[in-house]
Amino acid sequence: MLITCPYCGPRDVIEFTYQGDGNRERPQPASQNIDAWNAYVYDRLNPAGDHNEIWQHSGGCRSHLRVVRNTVTHEILNTEFAHGARKAGGRP
Ligand SMILES: [Zn+2]
Repeated sequence: MLITCPYCGPRDVIEFTYQGDGNRERPQPASQNIDAWNAYVYDRLNPAGDHNEIWQHSGGCRSHLRVVRNTVTHEILNTEFAHGARKAGGRP
């Protein structure tokens, strides 16, 4: 499986580390809403189809990427930086 890093180009999946479900929303750090924290920590989607995921190019530029992957075919439908655009040779 190839993942196209927006900074490095197409690379083998072995260079990447799965960081988790990209659909989760972290509660505010001071929040005492135990249900929101419980959902953030434990609830995961498990779709058969397109899934929004976070991956890190740990064997390359170390950028965190938002990847849309079909969990049935493993086709990568989209990749982008998780935290906005990054310019060549610099930080975002
Ligand atoms: Zn990269």
